[in-house]
Amino acid sequence: YRLSRSPELGKKISISFEFFPPKTDEMAERLWETVKRLEPIAPKFVSVTYGAGGSTRERTSRTIERMLSESALSPAAHLTCVDATKEEVDHVIEDFAQMGVKRFVALRGDPTAGVGTAYQPHPGGYSNGAELCGALKRIGNFDVSVSAYPEKHPESPDFATDIDMLKRKVDSGADRAITQFFFDNDLYERYVERVRKAGIYIPIVPGILPIHNFKQVAGFAGRCGASIPTWLAERFSGLENEPQTHQLVAAAIAAEQVLDLVERGIDDFHFYTMNRADLPFAIAHMIGVRPKVAEAAA
Ligand code: FAD
Repeated sequence: YRLSRSPELGKKISISFEFFPPKTDEMAERLWETVKRLEPIAPKFVSVTYGAGGSTRERTSRTIERMLSESALSPAAHLTCVDATKEEVDHVIEDFAQMGVKRFVALRGDPTAGVGTAYQPHPGGYSNGAELCGALKRIGNFDVSVSAYPEKHPESPDFATDIDMLKRKVDSGADRAITQFFFDNDLYERYVERVRKAGIYIPIVPGILPIHNFKQVAGFAGRCGASIPTWLAERFSGLENEPQTHQLVAAAIAAEQVLDLVERGIDDFHFYTMNRADLPFAIAHMIGVRPKVAEAAA
């Protein structure tokens, strides 16, 4: 790798981290340790996912509130259209704005009956990510990220339909798209080529999922529209009862993926942290993104 060995590389790279809202006090403390460990790296933003139920929404809100009051991070609130009227969603947006939130990740969300069932938009609600993105721009001209699917969304019959949906989100003002996770960089590159051919020029930021638990990831990948290459399964095979080696292999695979993307000219990354700091921290380190305090001292 030529580019990825440059001592100046870290200065060019921009990263963001994604967390999910904790369910218990204990999980909240663990998340907070992760946040504090990653904060000195100075990510461009951090994002917090959002669920359909009232209690999940409340947890997203509390997590973001804490980030705003106890850290220097710029949090982005994920928001979905599921089971809510436009007025209800607008109200949530205004609450976040009052709190000081300036960034959002606008999503349609999954059907409440479960992934795989048909999505029914709320009769009085926003029907997809594009409409929600438009509302966010109208209400507060926020910084809005939307989703993109290098292997297409499972509900899209073909890539043309899928990219048409992305185009609608861009026409509604999306600032960037963050991709679903993927493990084959060729799929990502081919997707970006298709997107550019469709006249879409916003950044398509790769979503990187360090594999903390291969069995779990293999279980939900299909539902998310992400394939597991045979070579990847092979690398984890036999490590079911070897947690330390599993972590080392996971770090090596994610570093390899990110370094290869750097070689392909990518300098913006979004990490699905699963609320753990170790792997994202190690991978950021590999691409020269270091805690700012340590950098200043050096
Ligand atoms: P959209 O982009 O609105 O639509 C997805 C697909 O549905 C389209 O590609 C198209 O095939 C089809 N479709 C939708 N509307 C139409 C239409 N009018 N005509 C034709 N086809 C249509 N889920 C959560 O619940 N909470 C989160 O916090 C969350 N965060 C995420 C973050 C990222 C970066 C990503 C990639 C996904 C996230 N998800 C989250 C998952 C997401 O909600 C699901 O993938 C969901 O099924 C689609 O949402 P979307 O915004 O991508 O949908």
